[in-house]
Amino acid sequence: MQYYKSGFRGGSPDVKPAAPDRRPRDGFAALPDQVDVLIAGCGPAGLCLAAQLAQFPEIDTLIVEPKPGPIEKGQADGVNTRTMEMFQAFGFGEQVKRESYWVNQTAFWAPDAANADHITRIGRVQDVPEGSSEMPHTLLNQARVHELFLEVMKNAPTRLQPSYGWALRDLQIDPDTEDHPVTVTLENTGVNAGELKTIRANFVVGCDGARSNVRRAIGGEMHGDAAHQAWGVMDILANTDFPDIRQKCLVASANEGNMLILPREGGYLFRLYVELDKLNPEERVAERNFTADDMIAAANRILQPYMIDVKELVWWSIYEIGHRLTDRFDNVPAGQDRDPRVFTAGDACHTHSPKAGQGMNVSMQDSFNLGWKLAQVFKGRSAPSLLRSYSAERRAEAKRLIETDHQWARIMSAPPGQSELDGSDMPRFQKQFIENLEFTGGLAVKYEGSALIGPPTHQALAPGFEIGCRFHSAPVVRVADAMQMQLGHLAEADGRWRIFAFAGADSGAGSPLYDLAAWLAEDPHSVLRRYTPADADIDAVIDLRAIFQQSFDVLLDQQVPALLRPKTGPFGLQDHEKIFCVDHKGAGDIFEMRGVDRASGCMVVVRPDQYVAHVLPLEAHQALSAFFDGIFLPAQSG
Ligand code: FAD
Repeated sequence: MQYYKSGFRGGSPDVKPAAPDRRPRDGFAALPDQVDVLIAGCGPAGLCLAAQLAQFPEIDTLIVEPKPGPIEKGQADGVNTRTMEMFQAFGFGEQVKRESYWVNQTAFWAPDAANADHITRIGRVQDVPEGSSEMPHTLLNQARVHELFLEVMKNAPTRLQPSYGWALRDLQIDPDTEDHPVTVTLENTGVNAGELKTIRANFVVGCDGARSNVRRAIGGEMHGDAAHQAWGVMDILANTDFPDIRQKCLVASANEGNMLILPREGGYLFRLYVELDKLNPEERVAERNFTADDMIAAANRILQPYMIDVKELVWWSIYEIGHRLTDRFDNVPAGQDRDPRVFTAGDACHTHSPKAGQGMNVSMQDSFNLGWKLAQVFKGRSAPSLLRSYSAERRAEAKRLIETDHQWARIMSAPPGQSELDGSDMPRFQKQFIENLEFTGGLAVKYEGSALIGPPTHQALAPGFEIGCRFHSAPVVRVADAMQMQLGHLAEADGRWRIFAFAGADSGAGSPLYDLAAWLAEDPHSVLRRYTPADADIDAVIDLRAIFQQSFDVLLDQQVPALLRPKTGPFGLQDHEKIFCVDHKGAGDIFEMRGVDRASGCMVVVRPDQYVAHVLPLEAHQALSAFFDGIFLPAQSG
């Protein structure tokens, strides 16, 4: 983390200097008549987007929420490894690591062959496959995740806070203007309940959950089916003689249904997902009037010979499983050639069963994908057509999620006994669980080739940095201060692109890496010179970092290109944190771990949302230009 570039300031470095002419954005400020981006809904999708946009004072963002304030408990709790990597970019990955429960192992319980009325442990697997991410899979109350995003928003230059007590009722898009074409009607749900307010916006993002008004307003329809199965979820403080209560467990009983146990933050709390009854095709779960006592009784039956003694029921909910997806995540129907103005994200455009722990994760990943694109358009770096890629990229991922989740939910709700052995020595749900691990970790996302994702022509130069997939971090040592760290942790949610230049065997003056740095810095046609405003820091848009194969002590005395020690900020202070080398202290050699070609090196281009956009030879200056030309507009000043 770097700070004091603009001068020394006491206090927490997380609190960024406030933007001078910002609109008052605290919850009590009057609503403005027009904004750049209006976000509906303070769930994980809306808050993740707001935290991203809050970093950019030039974007006037408003986020509204009908509830009177933040939620305090309940809803989702699974934070997968990919989301933890994203939290790192927002600056609170370490905080979540400290507070959360870490899912290290998952245990499987099934009917005991000697007594089918009792369950017995039949297997255990490591929950995060070795080397798949440097971050853990964690469990933490969704409300706490909200709080962490709210903190980022409040500390951002815009000091953004939600406007509670307002619901988006409807919106209209004026096709004949480019100037704030979306007119939004908000309804007060607080002290002035029923009061209406219209606001004009350039863009609207519906993060307003499964019953989204934004989706309805743009004609989006949910398609899918229901599994006609009632489930209950409860967060409890309880005593039990069940031995694996501090492990994530999948439990299948012979005659009483299935259950999922999720230990939670703090050491005492845990969550149970309990299978209740099958529903008739026309029946809704609410008609059954299930209670928390029904759930506790079912849990005790499933867990035999063990029992649970509940001391405090913290939160509970009963639901039925549905898998639904909209045709598109924006307001432009298929086949129409225009740029979108209104988007939906999260549960507003896809719903699935909670037990694969994806709801909160996928919702945040949706809006992380959209956030940097909106920023790029507002900053004049890209044409608005960039925003078409949001629906294209995220809908494909949501479709995959629903297909996998569908299969998983059916296995978890299979009639008693059927989800057990399938003829092999491993129960079907354990086998499927292992097969799904990369997917449930959020690591299987792979965006298709597009203007934003280059072709795999040179993928062989670094097969471990797969184009279209998230940048898979690995250890390095920062040369200036011999600091061991993760290369991926350089990425902040700041809207910048990154080029990681891996030096080949020839890495001194005159080598391909030096030539690349010289071209980037000096050639008026280079991507850095073309896309960075003349009055901005040289790394304001595209951040170049170099990774060498030698150890730090050799490199310390080596002359490096000026671009790798740039002078930036109002004082022109030298930046010492652009140069890295392999870790020689045992954490691992990044070249070896990711298969980077040691002879030739390569460059890895990474998008602001941490996805690998391209892998190219260090000499491929023109190919790099061609790639960026397809995304960026030439820089304007300011
Ligand atoms: P949400 O979290 O639903 O957030 C939508 C927000 O929009 C809400 O704050 C809502 O008040 C607001 N809103 C609604 N209407 C409007 C409007 N008209 N204008 C403006 N704002 C509006 N997932 C699990 O994995 N495990 C669980 O046990 C689990 N339990 C859940 C229980 C409940 C009661 C709910 C609602 C969800 C649960 N989920 C669970 C799902 C999980 O919480 C969601 O997948 C996740 O929160 C999706 O995030 P989101 O931001 O898209 O939507």
